[in-house]
Parts: sequence; structure tokens; C-alpha cells
Amino acid sequence: MLKGKSAVVTGSTSGIGLGIATALAAEGCALMLNGFGDAGLIEGLKRDLAGKYGVKVGYSAADMSKPAEIRQMIADATRELGAVDILVNNAGIQHVAPVEEFPDDKWDAIIAINLSAAFHATKAVVPQMKQRRWGRIINIASAHGLVASGQKAAYVAAKHGIVGLTKVVAIECANDGITCNAICPGWVLTPLVQKQVEALAKEKGETVDQAKTELLREKQPMLQYTTPEKLGALAVFLCSDAAATMTGAPLPMDGGWVAE
Ligand code: NAD
Repeated sequence: MLKGKSAVVTGSTSGIGLGIATALAAEGCALMLNGFGDAGLIEGLKRDLAGKYGVKVGYSAADMSKPAEIRQMIADATRELGAVDILVNNAGIQHVAPVEEFPDDKWDAIIAINLSAAFHATKAVVPQMKQRRWGRIINIASAHGLVASGQKAAYVAAKHGIVGLTKVVAIECANDGITCNAICPGWVLTPLVQKQVEALAKEKGETVDQAKTELLREKQPMLQYTTPEKLGALAVFLCSDAAATMTGAPLPMDGGWVAE
């Protein structure tokens, strides 16, 4: 379905980003991966995806907290893949603390990586998408883009911000063949959440398995984690013709979290 298209997926060396990159590659989409990690493992990921799906796979080590590196990533992807038709703004980090104790440097890093990076990447790709009159921008927000939880001031502010950015880009590009949507996952068992599970287990003196269920119980009526594969399938749908008039939407895949 996406043969001849090229995508940049930020933060795609792990978790949700990797799930989305894999789903796009399975549809024949060329890829530029991005994110941190062991060089050998990243080389292996590139080889596996290219070998399995017969698509071109590049990698950019750009740090999403650095606007100049983000612009360079888009320029490199355009040169190496021929174009950037699909941009998935996914890279993200978390830090948990009460607002009065929230470290300034953590606030700045979360706003830079989880919010400003999406602005810089979007700004860099929109001109070429407008030129070709086709583009898909998918922002990975969160249930925390729609509702709040305590101890997550920076994360919730960034995720609400990215939902706002999504709406602005959607209306500005509404007649240019470009859609911009936000996916709002509930709990997904990735390394980002594993850390929170382990912290909860320690705090409550529970096993990690008990804490996994407890975390769900606090927020999600459906006591089941969403998977990177399911989110990948939603991203593929957003890139399809069926979704051509769907834009500016925050789309929960959250086991009922924001329904309560
Ligand atoms: P993860 O920790 O598994 O992956 C994060 C990715 O971002 C990794 O590839 C990492 O290398 C990359 N990254 C981090 N900082 C970076 C930087 N400065 N520059 C470039 N890359 C960087 O986390 P995940 O759970 O897959 O999270 C992906 C996105 O999904 C995040 O935006 C997160 O907020 C969002 N999300 C996650 C959940 C969840 O339950 N896991 C729920 C809702 C939203």
C-alpha cells in the first residue's frame, strides 16, 4: 500500500516508534530510523527491516532536543530516500515528580523532545509535502494529551501541546493533500513504561507482574496493554486513502482511559 513512499519515524530504535516503522516497512514504505541505542543493534534493525520487507532503510542519530540536528535529519532523509512523504513524531521521554520538585532541566528536556521536536520536524517537511500535494504527519501524543495525571507536569503539558500543534497543522494544510493527526495511546509496555512499573513495584512492595496490573487498574477500564503492533496498524491506516479526509484528530487507543 505504501510502495514508493518514504517515512521518517523519530525514536524508532525502540518501543512504539519501532512498531510503527515496522508496520510502515511491511507496506513497502522506505524508512529513516532515528533514536538512541547500541550501534550494532541499530545496524541489525536496519538490516532486518530492509531484508524482510525489501525496502530502503536509513538511520539518523539526530538528537530530538537539538533543532539543527532535526533539520539535518530531514535533509538527510530527503537526499537518501528521495523524499519525506510521512513524518511520525514519536520520540519521547518521561520524568515523574511533584511540580514543586520537578527539576528544571527535566522540564526543558521533555518540552524539547516531546513537543518542540515535532514543531521543528514538521516545519522542515511541510514545504516538500505541499509541493507534491501529499503528506501524512502523525504525532504520537498520549492519553495524557487529553487528560492529566499527577507528577507528570512536563509530560502532560507537552502532550496537550502536541495535540494543539496537530490541530493547527491540520487546518493550515487542509487543502494541500496533507493530513496531520495525533495518536493517543494508553499504557503500552515499552522500556518507557517498564521503568514506571518497576518504580511502582518498589514503592508498593509488589512483584513486577502485580505492578503491571496495578498500573492498568489506576487508569484503564480495559486491563490490557496496547501493543506497538496495534499502534503501527493505526499509523498505516492514517497513511491510507481511506483516511484522506481525516485530519486534526486526537485518536485514543487507550483501553477506555479517556472515556472515564
Ligand atoms: P521508548 O523509551 O521505548 O522509546 C523512545 C524512543 O525515543 C527511543 O527510540 C529513544 O532512543 C528515542 N529518544 C529518546 N530521546 C531522544 C532524543 N533526544 N533524540 C532522539 N531520539 C530519542 O518509549 P515508547 O513508550 O515507545 O514511547 C514512544 C512515544 O510514545 C513517546 O512519545 C511516548 O510519550 C509515547 N507514549 C508512550 C506510551 C506508553 O505507554 N509506552 C503511552 C502513550 C504515549
